[in-house]
Amino acid sequence: MSFNDLSLIEPILTALSEEGYTTPTPIQQQAIPSVLARKDLLGCAQTGTGKTAAFSLPLLQLMHEEQKAERASGRGAQRRIRALILTPTRELAIQIEQSLKAYGRHLDLRHLVIFGGVSQYHQVGALRQGVDILVATPGRLLDLMNQRFISLQDISYFILDEADRMLDMGFVHDVRRIISKLPAKRQTLFFSATMPPEIQQLANILLQQPVKVEV
Ligand code: AMP
Repeated sequence: MSFNDLSLIEPILTALSEEGYTTPTPIQQQAIPSVLARKDLLGCAQTGTGKTAAFSLPLLQLMHEEQKAERASGRGAQRRIRALILTPTRELAIQIEQSLKAYGRHLDLRHLVIFGGVSQYHQVGALRQGVDILVATPGRLLDLMNQRFISLQDISYFILDEADRMLDMGFVHDVRRIISKLPAKRQTLFFSATMPPEIQQLANILLQQPVKVEV
């Protein structure tokens, strides 16, 4: 199988070939068609399996197509945060943002990464410029939400990455507070390396008839 068999659009295929990717990994083969079909996803996968591209590629494509339709209809040139990728650590957040940058380099979607431990000044400045996809760690996200710099009301894609690690790191209350602010009508992609009962429970709350992908 090649990336050409996954119904990906030309600007994304070009970026993949520039990255030197030729063959989709198993999780990419399984996840990409389901996400493009707007299904919720429960992915049991570790880092190193290619899971970042598995959710990023179809996410970029769906959002690009929406943007194209909006522009064609003369509506909404204004950017608003339509996708939230929540991840437990700063390192993962930065990696995900770098992947979005690489895979989306021929698209016109803006992404921003926010995390704690640094001044919020530049993050707030970047938010004001308009963002389509936000990659965030839970604490800083809540901080900026509480200060009204971020609203989740336009989120239509929610990706929870490394859910088990999120709970291990003690983010359970933060994650629940964030979830409570998400619109009910959305597509949710949920990834975890392990699926203990607590994680399964969280997945049950978040997902609607998910496609299950395990690698
Ligand atoms: P991840 O599991 O998302 O952290 O990805 C692990 C590494 O594999 C990253 O460095 C990616 O750039 C790389 N990668 C992901 N998908 C592919 C692919 N289909 N072909 C080659 N490299 C890939």
